[in-house]
Amino acid sequence: TVKGDVHDIGKNIVGVVLGCNGYRIVDLGVMVPWPKILETARAEKADAIGLSGLITPSLEEMRTVAQEMEREGMTLPLLIGGATTSRAHTAVRLEPMYSGPVVHVADASRAVGVVRSLLDDGARDEFVSQTRKAYEELRRQFADRDDRTRRLTIEDARANRVILDWTAQEPPKPTFTGARAINDVAIDELIDYIDWTPFFAAWELPGHYPEILDDRRMGEAARSLFGDAQQLLKRAVAEKMISVSAVVGFWPAGSTRDDDIVLFTDDSRSTELERLHNLRQQMAKPDGRPNSCLSDYTAPIESGVPDHVGAFAVSAGGGLDAAKKKFEALGDDYSAILLTSLADRLAEAMAEWLHAKVRRELWGYAPDEGLDNAALIAETYQGIRPAPGYPACPDHTEKRTIFRLLDAERNAGIRLTESMAMIPGASVSGLYFWHPEARYFGLGRIGRDQLVDYAKRKRWSIAEAERWLAMNVVEEREPAATVAAAEPLSVKSA
Ligand code: SAH
Repeated sequence: TVKGDVHDIGKNIVGVVLGCNGYRIVDLGVMVPWPKILETARAEKADAIGLSGLITPSLEEMRTVAQEMEREGMTLPLLIGGATTSRAHTAVRLEPMYSGPVVHVADASRAVGVVRSLLDDGARDEFVSQTRKAYEELRRQFADRDDRTRRLTIEDARANRVILDWTAQEPPKPTFTGARAINDVAIDELIDYIDWTPFFAAWELPGHYPEILDDRRMGEAARSLFGDAQQLLKRAVAEKMISVSAVVGFWPAGSTRDDDIVLFTDDSRSTELERLHNLRQQMAKPDGRPNSCLSDYTAPIESGVPDHVGAFAVSAGGGLDAAKKKFEALGDDYSAILLTSLADRLAEAMAEWLHAKVRRELWGYAPDEGLDNAALIAETYQGIRPAPGYPACPDHTEKRTIFRLLDAERNAGIRLTESMAMIPGASVSGLYFWHPEARYFGLGRIGRDQLVDYAKRKRWSIAEAERWLAMNVVEEREPAATVAAAEPLSVKSA
């Protein structure tokens, strides 16, 4: 797992699967800086390097690894995997950096086939050239899409913001302001809040729970995994293998004309405490739909409406590393991976549990919502909890602000890496918006004008903005790439 990232379920499964197929794996663990990856590959005479990562900043770290492999004249195949990686990302951001083979491996079950093709003298050339062709085509499609999508200027997008009626109802007032650690979490109470569908996805059994248990093809594997999970979960609770922690906070807040949300120290709203920076959709919308931004869900400062915004961070990763090491020492890699995936589930379950407690009690705007657990997992309630790094707010660095506000390290034992991964990995954080019209959306790609404006608001250089928002920024392309062949002389003037 690359520098700045701690996610290792996928990597560990790939290791086990390749190991079972007779390959020798040198597992460097998590948060591995590129020099160590390259040095080890050379020292161990590796046949291929595999990189894993969960969060989008890891994708940029993978780019660095690819660049360095190129600089050192390596020719080894580079395999890419992990939840946010994709064929498109591999084609657009990674392959152009490295002249050796670069292959996206969609899931662990495919790792064996890919490695076998790459290491087989008879199959290699054909496999590599087909992959290259497919990636070239993906790059072309990606660039085409940018050219065809009509985008508004950021001013026009702001003029088409989501307009909410802030006079219909006085915004609900939370029962406290500032951050507060939540210490009354009982792990066994969280089990009912677990969403099992993503659990099976983490184990590469795609399908909806509970139907997956009776699936013709996957049912048997799913039932056996689920049985093991129930047993280990019971044991983990009884033997206190993992501990949980949570912190939540609310602040008087209002939005600015340029998409920030200002949090104030107190109800007088005279002193700014922190500022949340948000990005706005810029794609042209049909039928009068708005260009959304999270700041639209907070009352404008100038309206004088006394609104609030909340934030939270939860973790179920306390003690996990020690418990994993115990299993690994016994040669039980399976239980180590299973426990990690259960801790992830408990963290998400706690986020759901805490959100319910916030709506019903701490913010208290829906005291009688009375939803059952299925309705909770479907998130049919009022309000949202967007998480930095997800499509509405892809800038992971906003976690820094959330963590400062919550003092998440002291209150919940969670730290951020330089890539904004949370340690322990089984952690979830985000913001709370109460408004009934608040919705999740995808930012999509933003124009140069918003990038420059955003960099200014964040006090970033343009290069920093490009790095943190890499996949959300429309590429500034020299026309050379597309028209050079037809009109070699017109490139400069174009
Ligand atoms: N029940 C799931 C919950 C995680 S996915 C599980 O156990 O894994 C749903 C969460 O992802 C939401 O609550 C929100 O925090 C985040 N999310 C989903 N879509 C989002 C978007 N477009 N923008 C921001 N956050 C989003």
